[in-house]
Amino acid sequence: MPNGKQNYVNGEWVASETGETFDVENPANPSETVATYQQSSADDATAAVEAAVAAEDEWANTPGPERGRILRQAGSILADRKDELTELLVEEEGKARPEAAGEVQRAIDIFHYFAGKASDLGGTVKGSSSRDTTLYTRKEPVGVAALVTPWNYPIAIPAWKLAPALTAGNTVVLKPASAAPGVVLAIAQALDEAGLPDGVFNVVTGPGSSVGSEFIEHEGTDAVSFTGSSQVGEMVYDQATDQGKRVQTELGGKNPTLVADSANPAEAAEIVASGGFGTTGQSCTACSRAIVHEDVYDEFVDELVDEAEAIDIGPGLDHEMGPQVSESELDSTLDYIDIAQEEGATLAAGGNTPEGEDVEDGYFVEPTVFVDVDNDMRIAQEEVFGPVVAVIKVSDFDEGLETANDVEYGLSASVVTDDHTEANRFIDDAEAGVVKVNEKTTGLELHVPFGGFKRSSSETWREQGDAGLEFYTIEKTVYDNY
Ligand code: NAD
Repeated sequence: MPNGKQNYVNGEWVASETGETFDVENPANPSETVATYQQSSADDATAAVEAAVAAEDEWANTPGPERGRILRQAGSILADRKDELTELLVEEEGKARPEAAGEVQRAIDIFHYFAGKASDLGGTVKGSSSRDTTLYTRKEPVGVAALVTPWNYPIAIPAWKLAPALTAGNTVVLKPASAAPGVVLAIAQALDEAGLPDGVFNVVTGPGSSVGSEFIEHEGTDAVSFTGSSQVGEMVYDQATDQGKRVQTELGGKNPTLVADSANPAEAAEIVASGGFGTTGQSCTACSRAIVHEDVYDEFVDELVDEAEAIDIGPGLDHEMGPQVSESELDSTLDYIDIAQEEGATLAAGGNTPEGEDVEDGYFVEPTVFVDVDNDMRIAQEEVFGPVVAVIKVSDFDEGLETANDVEYGLSASVVTDDHTEANRFIDDAEAGVVKVNEKTTGLELHVPFGGFKRSSSETWREQGDAGLEFYTIEKTVYDNY
């Protein structure tokens, strides 16, 4: 990918007008620069929006099956490069190789899934009250979609926004997160090789406050899809709605797993460990609160501590748990570990940066378990975004449910129970956009809607599956009196 480090605008690989660049370092070994990208300005973003506006009509009028052919081809090109992209993702973002390979595969699958949908973008025909009239609806693209994405799933999230946007006939400008932009440029490369017309997809790297903000502000963009922190997302939501734009924001989480007294403590601990420590705890759906019935609490804690201590930490290419993405994310996790202890929580596992040759320079932290946690402590209320699980003891199922809901977030929630009635009460009452029974809070299927409740989402539109397409289409109703 010779031009992969430049912006992709109007079908060309171009440098920023600023002449400035930034380096992405390997979080497992920060002295290693993985790649250098354009430190772009608002003017670079403007040029990308203008290209997307100019390409709108041609792409909207390209037949759906032809759009689908290009997406399918791009997915196949990504599949041919899966190993290379997996390693790039590990080197930029830090996650473990199997996690990165799974994420790259998800992006490939998303392109193939929406490629199939491109032939099926119909409307509905209804009987008209008037004679000689055909009454029907058709779906049209919204226009130019502005996508702003986070670093933690740097290829899957851009793919799950971009593929439905293109399928529905929109043109797109995208600003990837600066910690791991390489895989998004690889998508641009694949679409370019697959024959996507110039200007239909444009990628500009650089700061959110200039590039991202210009994408949202510019009168040429019609829809804004943002995934990231609640703090930034709420600002983006206000900015986009002030401009009268269609907007969806998917944000942070503080996801609980409720462990009922009927649960097998070892199985529950495995579920919590996998949801809480997988991807180094850097998933929006990561389990960060285990709410445990007192009858199984001690056994559960022992099992969870064993799970945490068994994890092999090191560079993601050949270890089970990679580093945090950056020094600031590591510092933030270590700060929360201090705060939790100051507030009276007891450290039961981890809590430190690990020692050893492989890990001494990188942004590694041990999988950490806190017990004796009250739900009003900051460790139980705020998104930590590291491999830290707070264990909270409750005396019955109702208290557990109430505790699970007693946060400002509502992204994913799971329950571990053998009791069918409890499982169904949890499904009914959990305030979360994703609810799971006897499963970890992380892990999503690509063909069903995804989105949060409360501060985890704007609750405007869902992503993924058919719901993902709806955001990028607008319906027109036709009365054709012949
Ligand atoms: P972030 O909010 O810091 O950044 C997200 C994106 O917004 C980045 O591309 C950033 O450059 C850009 N940005 C920053 N300031 C901006 C501004 N003023 N205007 C426009 N764009 C701006 O989030 P992050 O640290 O990259 O990602 C981690 C967060 O994302 C966590 O809170 C996590 O829970 C959340 N997340 C949510 C989901 C979900 O689907 N709910 C999925 C993944 C991550």
